[in-house]
Amino acid sequence: MLLIKNGRVMDPKSDLDQVCDVLVQDGKIIKIAPEIKEEGAEIIDATGLVVAPGLVDIHVHFREPGQTHKEDIHTGALAAAAGGFTTVVMMANTSPTISDVETLQEVLHSAAKEKINVKTVATITKNFNGQDLTDFKALLEAGAVGFSDDGIPLESSKVVKEAMEEAKKLNTFISLHEEDPGLNGILGFNENIAKEHFHICGATGVAEYAMMARDVMIAYATKAHVHIQHLSKEESVKVVEFAQRLGAQVTAEVAPQHFSKTEALLLTQGSNAKMNPPLRLESDRRAVIEGLKSGVITVIATDHAPHHADEKNVEDITKAPSGMTGLETSLSLGLTYLVEAGELSLMELLEKMTYNPAKLYNFEAGYLAENGPADITIFDAKVDRFVDSYFASKAANSPFIGETLKGQVKYTICKGQIVYQN
Ligand SMILES: [Zn+2]
Repeated sequence: MLLIKNGRVMDPKSDLDQVCDVLVQDGKIIKIAPEIKEEGAEIIDATGLVVAPGLVDIHVHFREPGQTHKEDIHTGALAAAAGGFTTVVMMANTSPTISDVETLQEVLHSAAKEKINVKTVATITKNFNGQDLTDFKALLEAGAVGFSDDGIPLESSKVVKEAMEEAKKLNTFISLHEEDPGLNGILGFNENIAKEHFHICGATGVAEYAMMARDVMIAYATKAHVHIQHLSKEESVKVVEFAQRLGAQVTAEVAPQHFSKTEALLLTQGSNAKMNPPLRLESDRRAVIEGLKSGVITVIATDHAPHHADEKNVEDITKAPSGMTGLETSLSLGLTYLVEAGELSLMELLEKMTYNPAKLYNFEAGYLAENGPADITIFDAKVDRFVDSYFASKAANSPFIGETLKGQVKYTICKGQIVYQN
């Protein structure tokens, strides 16, 4: 038995926000009350700390199979636990891609060994070919939780429509990375800084919001649910809002880097600040924050994208891969740039990192209640934390190294077990 004493227990589902004790047994929370006495229980003193549901991240790249020099499922799970996450959803752009039941089963076999809940989507099209749908039904039955070709946007509107219809039939949804290659330049650099500083044609806003506009309207017409991944432009927030007002079933996520920083970060942090979609303008950063506040964007997801230092440290930055390691800084970025900045309450931040993402996938996660899962994150919301280059992830490609942020995870508990302690 595990007894968490005197923490500020915060549950976005029930709106509980009260100093009390939490008693855990056999992977479940068995009691939440102001004063619990239990002989022989292991005690965690959570005085001054927040006791929240285990964080849920629906967008991570763990690189297994095929690119395990960057990350593997084990180190990805350790990074998740260190960041306070107890449930993650992997993307399927592995090598090979997760497009068939055999590859899916291999991945899930590896994932099942981890102490946190590691789930995965499968691809929408076979081997990311953008043309032929995978066998959604077979993949769902084999344990995939959803579908995405994240990394390679779907160019064919016909395929998008077919995928939405198939997903709807099976009571699931597809998730889309929206950057139309036909409207884009070199990825990872926002068009403004690309032109002014790097003298290249960069990643345009229209590539994102035009493709998104197409897809939310296909969702409207098919009455299917579509989830928009990591939106980054002011216009994109407006597109999602417009579709939601029309009655389309559209949900959206934003990555912490997009509400924290702008394209200028490339000038100081180089390739570690290169990502798809890229860091944008201050007006875009403001707009995604407004989208979080208004509820147009309901989910914060990291897009945890580890890369090896040798791959990032190439002479020509345009050749460096896009993406940043994100699991271990996500909570601190939310605390710093949303809560401390006065944009969201702590409860609203937690809702977007726990209950909302769990609800999107119908996971038994993301809340604290008696008889509920003992997936719990205990953190100090106020302490200053200097981000150094040590990560539990295999990768250290974070543009936040050297910055002092708010908040520190103290304990991550999953299925009643302490899986991380600081
Ligand atoms: Zn993506």
